[in-house]
Amino acid sequence: MAGDTSKKDEPPDWYAAGLEHVWLPYAQMKTAAPPLPVVRTQGSRITLADGRELIDGIASWWTACHGYNQPHIRHAVAKQLKQMPHVMFGGLAHEPALTLARRLAALLPGDLTRVFFSDSGSVAVEVALKMAAQYWINRGVKGRGQFVAFKGGYHGDTTGAMAVSDAEGGMHALFAGLLPQHPIIDLPDDDERAAALDKLLSERADTIAGIIVEPLVQGAGGMKFHDAAVLKRLRALADKYDLLLIFDEVFTGFGRTCTMFACEAASVTPDIVALSKALTGGTLPLAATVATKKVFDAFWSDDPKKALMHGPSYMAHALGCAAANASLDLFEQEPRLQQVGTISSALLQGLAPCRSMPGVKDVRVKGAIGVVEMERIDDLNALRALFVEQGVFVRPFGNIIYLTPALTIAGDELKTLTDAVVKVVRTLKS
Ligand code: PLP
Repeated sequence: MAGDTSKKDEPPDWYAAGLEHVWLPYAQMKTAAPPLPVVRTQGSRITLADGRELIDGIASWWTACHGYNQPHIRHAVAKQLKQMPHVMFGGLAHEPALTLARRLAALLPGDLTRVFFSDSGSVAVEVALKMAAQYWINRGVKGRGQFVAFKGGYHGDTTGAMAVSDAEGGMHALFAGLLPQHPIIDLPDDDERAAALDKLLSERADTIAGIIVEPLVQGAGGMKFHDAAVLKRLRALADKYDLLLIFDEVFTGFGRTCTMFACEAASVTPDIVALSKALTGGTLPLAATVATKKVFDAFWSDDPKKALMHGPSYMAHALGCAAANASLDLFEQEPRLQQVGTISSALLQGLAPCRSMPGVKDVRVKGAIGVVEMERIDDLNALRALFVEQGVFVRPFGNIIYLTPALTIAGDELKTLTDAVVKVVRTLKS
């Protein structure tokens, strides 16, 4: 039963025996609260080993857009598993991958038509950066190895992705100076900042391969929103200085911000887009870096040196592609984008009481993303535990409490989530 947090049984044997041997994500292992043992997920609910059921406010880092255990996706994966779980993509091809590539090309705007598969959002970004740098090499242009990226940005945890994430404010600040250096500047969200970017490009465009941005929402860097005008400006500047524009839609892709892809809100087509997370409905790891014909054409040659030398072992994983195709079926057959609109209104209404509470800096909502930004959060572990006591799974970071539920979440479940946020924020002192 959701909210029944009374059972406090001993954790199962596998938990105690294995916990000593795992290294947890984004965690100071000495002080991190022990993770909650999960035995089952269904819809928007997570069942713990002791029988407690939590309503999930995060959808597993925004991946599970149709909720957990979605029957159509499960069926597609089970069917594919019987036939062929995986086969290498070098020299071989299979139906789920080619169908998915065709469908993604049809869904994305403009001539974003060439899909390179990989296995995580970070790697999709690495591939995008590599493609963009090699685009210039293949065209015989030397010295264009840098990327303009933005403060507040987060593009993943691999080296190249870390280097284009916010170096100072971001989680990888320790590595500043060790990573490749790129200009990380303010997003051009007003005329002055747009002029500053224009000036930088006028001075340095010949060293720059492209511009990379998370369109509309900078997620893990602080759940900061910007509007479509920023993306139009970036497109105009990229065109003015002949740079490639890369959209990292790992977070925003697949309906999260009200349109299937965030770039649609600005009617802007990037030259390269990175997708992952909700691509498989949160079922299996899979990512895609999709290039326009213009980018692909720079690799099309009789010269083997102009090939993109990349090929992860698990690229185009057949189970992942089957899950992704099933997920796209659901977007076609069910009213997902309408559901995002409904969630958006409920988040606005449900989180509104936080606006006037002490210690709250901002409350904002975009699509199915609800954010309560605090002045500060002193004890994240304690705060996370308070949410569990309310029967919900919410995982604040930095000074941010946020909800990114499954797009299929029921109205009463969403209300439980927003009520829990309001109640917990009320208990916090400014
Ligand atoms: N890009 C964005 C915008 C993200 O939000 C994330 C993850 O949160 C990544 C890239 C990295 O994706 P992954 O964790 O799958 O490597």
